[in-house]
Amino acid sequence: MQRPVRTVLVINSGSSSMKFSLVQPDAGVEVADGIVERIGERESRAEVQFDGREVERRAPVGDHDAALRLAFELLDEAGGKLDDLGIVAVGHRLVHGGRDLYRPTIIDDAVVAKARELAPLAPLHNPPAVLGVEVARKMLPDLPHIAVFDTAFFHDLPAAAATYAIDRDLAEQWRIRRYGFHGTSHQYISEQAAEFLDRPLDQLNQIVLHLGNGASASAIAGGRPVDTSMGLTPMEGLVMGTRSGDIDPGIVFYLARTAKLPVEEIESMLNRRSGVYGLGGDNDFRELHRMIAAGAEPEASQAQLAYDVYIHRLRKYIGAYLAVLGDTHVITFTAGVGENDAKVRRDALTGLAPLGVELDEHLNESPSRGARVISAENSPTTVLVIPTDEELAIARACVAVLARD
Ligand code: AMP
Repeated sequence: MQRPVRTVLVINSGSSSMKFSLVQPDAGVEVADGIVERIGERESRAEVQFDGREVERRAPVGDHDAALRLAFELLDEAGGKLDDLGIVAVGHRLVHGGRDLYRPTIIDDAVVAKARELAPLAPLHNPPAVLGVEVARKMLPDLPHIAVFDTAFFHDLPAAAATYAIDRDLAEQWRIRRYGFHGTSHQYISEQAAEFLDRPLDQLNQIVLHLGNGASASAIAGGRPVDTSMGLTPMEGLVMGTRSGDIDPGIVFYLARTAKLPVEEIESMLNRRSGVYGLGGDNDFRELHRMIAAGAEPEASQAQLAYDVYIHRLRKYIGAYLAVLGDTHVITFTAGVGENDAKVRRDALTGLAPLGVELDEHLNESPSRGARVISAENSPTTVLVIPTDEELAIARACVAVLARD
């Protein structure tokens, strides 16, 4: 007997935007997706695609409740009837699960309360995600809602990588450890890489570079993460679109004590006004390259420095993870910058031939979109570009939960 088509509604709720996708995990296809942006601002923009049709609307959208309603309305307009799509679950991306929540979990009131408690650990991400969960549960009360945590993949990070060298008792009391984020993407990409190369996952040492607006690196041995660049919060590690990544913690005390900045202001500066945006004036790499090429000063030099700092940090992490893994079989680039920016990929790996990593310039420049090899034929480490698909990974996690529970 043929199994009915199963569809998962995946919701990713941010502070001023709500994204959704309708994914059929068995076939690995996305049948619809949409976004409502600038929620709570004077004019919001909503866009939904279903089956090749696209509808857009600009209208004020006051809150997340109105945003989800509008998204479903546009989906309906595009021909996607929620009731006819065979939706079996709603998957929610939650960034921080703390120490106790890590496995994909059916959401009940206790899970919502727990996720809300974790807000201080991910102030930018958890509160809007919880809001998304609440409005979706209210709107679709008969479906199971499942939380998939960004921290899950890194839950069993070896203690040597997960532990901060700070006062042990204080760390224990406040559950301070390196949790790691973008886990859904790092796991998905490492599995895809093994499949693409037709090699067993448990025999591969991999570095995954998730370079999007948020950016993180991970070292994965035999399918299990052994290190990752993000920590207690998604601020640690690589230079990102608007986040600083690694800094000397002394900067925070100095700004608090000497510049008399309130802690909220420092946090906001490090999260929203730092990274390549803070240095170069824009968080979009296309724009940075444009400013550098245009040569108008001081923008060009500022954009160049932002780019150089970004690349320098990225190279340091690649070097560190080559050492953590010893013998690295695969390095994979993914997410907006990793998938599209050939110059970043080239500059990240230039000169690493003595460490076994050699790009093929021609393959690297090829504008192809799918999973592809970009290393030279004789490079001991294979370098790949693989598009990430967190929605598909979340949808797969959801159907696995349904099968488990
Ligand atoms: P993500 O968070 O994965 O959606 O990545 C978003 C970022 O990807 C943007 O801020 C850009 O910096 C970058 N990006 C997207 N498309 C391109 C492109 N064609 N070339 C360079 N960077 C890109």
